Amino acid sequence: MATAAALSRNHEVTIVAKNLPGDAPTIEWASPWAGASFIAGSCSSLQEAKMQLEAFAELWRLSIEHPESSVKRILIEDLHDNKTEDEVWWKDFMPEVSPLARIGDASFKRMNLSSLSDACSLGHDVLVNATGFGSLTLADVLDEDVDMVRGQTMVVRSDYNKLFMRDSGDRYTYAIPRLDGTVVLGGVRQRDTLDSKVDWDICRDIAQRIHKNLPDHFPAEMSDLQNIGHNVGIRPGRRSGIRIEKEEKNGQKIVHVYGAAGGGYIFGAGMARAAATLVEEFLTPSFPAKL
Ligand SMILES: Cc1cc2nc3c(=O)[nH]c(=O)nc-3n(C[C@H](O)[C@H](O)[C@H](O)COP(=O)(O)OP(=O)(O)OC[C@H]3O[C@@H](n4cnc5c(N)ncnc54)[C@H](O)[C@@H]3O)c2cc1C
Repeated sequence: MATAAALSRNHEVTIVAKNLPGDAPTIEWASPWAGASFIAGSCSSLQEAKMQLEAFAELWRLSIEHPESSVKRILIEDLHDNKTEDEVWWKDFMPEVSPLARIGDASFKRMNLSSLSDACSLGHDVLVNATGFGSLTLADVLDEDVDMVRGQTMVVRSDYNKLFMRDSGDRYTYAIPRLDGTVVLGGVRQRDTLDSKVDWDICRDIAQRIHKNLPDHFPAEMSDLQNIGHNVGIRPGRRSGIRIEKEEKNGQKIVHVYGAAGGGYIFGAGMARAAATLVEEFLTPSFPAKL
């Protein structure tokens, strides 16, 4: 969606997908399950750091210029047990607000592709492959580097209004207020299961960890929380980092943009800008590449 928004100012865009906004959430795609918070974090390359900074600037701009976008600014308590201060590379960053793109028109078309070449008949100039972990099984992508990481959170009623994050390396604990009287509590990173059912042991463990960190705001027992929902989703990661790449295959010009793992909202606008640059390079070969 972010790439479509970036491209739709200058191009005709059709969003082709099996799962579309407004559909009931399923484990088949990641975006409906996200806490949707922006917290800067580790990057596997300088390009990824740049994408995070660009995404932050864009979210900051939206929060100021378009409050109706639902993007809100919130105080963050961001604790890292295993990092030195120098490793927190984003600590002094403040955004320079410059518009990336206005959201223009885009149309939607539901298709379940078994390969990207199934889309050839659509008559497009460039295909952007933003299929998340779909890139593991699409016959002409088969990206074995895709890393599927299960996440589980619960949504509770609470007036807690700061974003809390404690990353201890192997596990991380967070509370993401939605500023509507509900808070998302997490989390886990699981690579050994893709089970879509709620794991109640994980719920109890999250409740205990949250209580340990925020004892004045959340009780230790799950039964004492005002629980209103659970989120179970798969983060579409990649072991070697986000894939932003051009490829020509079976007569199609393709721009790959996927692999944000737990950072689709953290990297989104930056990934979109990088992907849009590659699209322009395809369309205008003399287009200057500045990634
Ligand atoms: C519990 C949980 C909490 C999270 N919290 C946060 C957070 O706080 N902040 C954050 O930044 N990120 C968070 N994330 C991560 C975030 O959800 C993902 O990084 C992001 O949603 C990935 O978006 P995507 O568009 O790449 O993939 P997806 O949302 O999975 O979209 C992929 C699209 O491709 C389509 N597709 C795939 N295969 C095919 C095919 N074969 N044919 C046709 N269409 C296909 C799908 O239908 C879908 O429309 C969280 C994730 C989880 C699970």
